Amino acid sequence: MNQSTQSRKRKRKESKLETEKCSICLTKLRKYVASPKNCRHLFCLGCLKRWSRTQNTCPICRRRFSRIEVLNQRSKKLVRVLPVARADQQNIQLNRIDVFLMLSITTRLMSIMRTLLYDI
Ligand SMILES: [Zn+2]
Ligand SMILES: [Zn+2]
Repeated sequence: MNQSTQSRKRKRKESKLETEKCSICLTKLRKYVASPKNCRHLFCLGCLKRWSRTQNTCPICRRRFSRIEVLNQRSKKLVRVLPVARADQQNIQLNRIDVFLMLSITTRLMSIMRTLLYDI
């Protein structure tokens, strides 16, 4: 009985160590860690910042977040809160570029067709 309690303790310790790794770059977390506002998952500040430039959902649980909390890993004290450029706003900008591209392609196609018509 004593032995099983010991192994259970060791297991719990191992899983705790796992959660202290950044799941984006898989290295051990440093003194300051970053966490999405809406969940408690921890990442390196650099990793989460880079991630938030393309997506505003947590890499693990897929919850949307609009702010990144920077914490001291040991004390879990909040150091600062960073705003995130929301991914859906970036998508709207991309759509605008698409429309612009489409327009310039159509204009080019029309001028090609015009020259073709003249050839006939
Ligand atoms: Zn990382
Ligand atoms: Zn999460």
